Amino acid sequence: MTAPIAVEEQLARVLASTRLLEVETLPVPEARGRTLRQPVRAAVDIPVFDNSAMDGFAVRFADVTDATGAAPVALTVVADLPAGTADDPALRAGEAARIMTGSPVPADADAIVPFEDTAGGLADSLGTVTVQRAPAKAGAHIRRAGEDLRAGDEVLPAGVVFGAWQQGAAGAAGVAEVVVSRCPRVAVISTGTELVAPGSPLRRGQIPESNSVLLAGLVAEAGADLVLRTSVDDEGSQLRDVLAGVLDEVDAVIFSGGVSAGAYEVVKNELAGTMTFSKVAMQPGKPQGFGVAPSGALLFGLPGNPVSAAVSFEVFVRPALLAMQGRAALARPVLRLPASTAWKTPPNRRQYLPATIDRSDPSRWTAGPATAGGSGSHRAGGLGAAEAYVVVPAEVDAVAAGDEVDVWTLEG
Ligand code: AMP
Ligand code: MG
Repeated sequence: MTAPIAVEEQLARVLASTRLLEVETLPVPEARGRTLRQPVRAAVDIPVFDNSAMDGFAVRFADVTDATGAAPVALTVVADLPAGTADDPALRAGEAARIMTGSPVPADADAIVPFEDTAGGLADSLGTVTVQRAPAKAGAHIRRAGEDLRAGDEVLPAGVVFGAWQQGAAGAAGVAEVVVSRCPRVAVISTGTELVAPGSPLRRGQIPESNSVLLAGLVAEAGADLVLRTSVDDEGSQLRDVLAGVLDEVDAVIFSGGVSAGAYEVVKNELAGTMTFSKVAMQPGKPQGFGVAPSGALLFGLPGNPVSAAVSFEVFVRPALLAMQGRAALARPVLRLPASTAWKTPPNRRQYLPATIDRSDPSRWTAGPATAGGSGSHRAGGLGAAEAYVVVPAEVDAVAAGDEVDVWTLEG
């Protein structure tokens, strides 16, 4: 019996075989969720021009420096500047322009007096304005051109997800198109003669097939397109047929089941020449298959227990799908939290425990097993409660309540 290999070694094998996908140029509104492959640079300054931060009056600061309620200053309103105007009216001493938020500030003005600081407010704002409070300083309530970003500045680096905030930032910088990765194309193939579609009647020995929908969802969450989701028996001919039909269309195939040490391990039997089957020092997820098809598609053989399949996807498949897209960060954000309870961990294997986070004390979150019954890899129902993984090093044999543990949150 060969000793299990480290998680890092298996992941390194996977990533060494993972190739970057081609890029495509998409309009900003269509690129949400894609990974940027080129930095986004501002096409225009943000703000584009000096503009008013308030509804009120553009004034010459020197005119109103001493204005107070007791000694107000009257100015003649010589122009009206709604948003979108191209006007740049001249202001002489004693003159003001009514101005709305976002309108360009006249070149002659160097402060804005909000309606609140005038006698008449909006209601009496044309003709003459009576200023009752001086602006704090020259430049008050003026947003200067380029104070956020200059044209040519990097708005976003390559390697990040282009989400709603990033779309908004690119749009504000006058950018219409971005260069992103195309989506990986993935097939999910469950194996097992015992499996039937959820909802179908079960005769003795049959169980609902749940890994394909689990893995399909995880594939989508990793930014990939699902080309095929199906289930085959343990005989071999179905697997061969399905694989032959899809292999040339995909960047990765994810098998579940059929990779461990039983008598009818269909993935192992059919793909022994192409894939390597290893024992990895982790729990769950010890048996792992991986290889590269002649087409270049990555072949992942995940163990069939649902929790094992989910963990194996998290640890090996997700990083590969992200790397294909050029994602800069392949790892999840990690929190260090106290354990909410005690539990045992397997000797010499890294534990990935589906976990919940107790947030009842906002200043002291804790993390613990998602299922009361422990970490059994068949406890698929408990996955429904999980929102994170607690990851415990191989050297640690037991976790005590209050021990700090690594918690991988699944949203990042
Ligand atoms: P295997 O890795 O094929 O030996 O499967 C391990 C365990 O996981 C067995 O109890 C299987 O019945 C179960 N299993 C395998 N594939 C699936 C699946 N797609 N959905 C639900 N359970 C599965
Ligand atoms: Mg099986």
